[in-house]
Amino acid sequence: MGEGDQSAGVGSVVEIACECGRSACAEVIALPWCVYEEAQKEPRRLLLAPGHELPGASALVRCDSFVVVSSEERLRRRI
Ligand SMILES: [Zn+2]
Repeated sequence: MGEGDQSAGVGSVVEIACECGRSACAEVIALPWCVYEEAQKEPRRLLLAPGHELPGASALVRCDSFVVVSSEERLRRRI
């Protein structure tokens, strides 16, 4: 819907399902391809809809349409 037509160069937008893991979540988020690609290189990165942040995960990027978090905390051993 609307103005999806900025085809030139700056970078395309990818739409993915929110990765918060809640079974009831049906959010689709749109984010720049470069952000998506970078997150794929980091297995601990999760791409979430705003407001779907997980407790204990620190937000690396936060904007109107998506949030990038690192779930590292969960995997790190407790001292
Ligand atoms: Zn979600």
